[in-house]
Amino acid sequence: MIVFEQVIKKYNNQDKAAVDNLDLHIQKGEICMLVGPSGCGKTTTMKMINKLIKATSGKIYIDGMDIDQVDPINLRLDIGYVIQDTGLFPHMTIADNIATVPKEKGWSRNKIRNRVDELLELMDLDPEIYRDKKPKDLSGGQKQRVGVARALAADPPVMLMDEPFGALDPITRGKLQDEFLRIQEKIGKTIVFVTHDIDEALKMGDKIVVMRDGRVVQFGSPNEILSNP
Ligand code: ADP
Ligand code: ADP
Repeated sequence: MIVFEQVIKKYNNQDKAAVDNLDLHIQKGEICMLVGPSGCGKTTTMKMINKLIKATSGKIYIDGMDIDQVDPINLRLDIGYVIQDTGLFPHMTIADNIATVPKEKGWSRNKIRNRVDELLELMDLDPEIYRDKKPKDLSGGQKQRVGVARALAADPPVMLMDEPFGALDPITRGKLQDEFLRIQEKIGKTIVFVTHDIDEALKMGDKIVVMRDGRVVQFGSPNEILSNP
């Protein structure tokens, strides 16, 4: 579903490549965890998928399509994106936040309203209570649920999640991880998930990519990673 072929990313001001000749195949419907210490190239790898960062060389394909051929704005409408601090628009209601991409896509008001309520329910947030609240009225865990709902709104085939639960306390974090795995059972998205926490990677991942210095040092299922430390 997502293929990297010999992808290199070198930032202007650096001698060393941040991502160094990466070959990667991510299967449809699986959660692929990118794990490794700070600075190893996880976020750079992820941001090349939605063209927030342009690869220096190499090719990236999504569903067989060379992303060089796709307009970045259109690409991002089909790739859900969740980041650590949620990036919710503070002045907008929860419903309007979730509706961002569906509005861009020109969905009818009715369809958007139904979808917002459906997603709030999926995230265990009562629509009657939360629809018209602002992000500041929600707890960290609730905001992060809304962040996930917003990314899912237009049902994108691919989701990028960059330390989505990293800012939460351990209990809330564990709860959201469990919830998200339950949701993924239903939705079956292709997910690239960045974390520096190996336990999170082992818990959440179908596949795990261990990175160091811009390279893949280990790749496999959690069981394969555990049996080859
Ligand atoms: P990670 O997500 O694993 O922490 P990053 O992908 O953010 O790693 O960074 C990989 C390397 O690239 C690091 O050495 C980082 O300092 C460097 N880097 C990241 N973004 C930039 C940038 N915009 N300009 C220059 N160097 C960068
Ligand atoms: P994280 O590791 O949580 O992804 P970073 O601190 O690596 O966060 O990066 C935060 C932002 O700063 C990113 O947009 C990244 O591209 C940029 N960045 C990271 N390292 C550098 C760097 N050495 N020079 C310039 N920008 C950087």
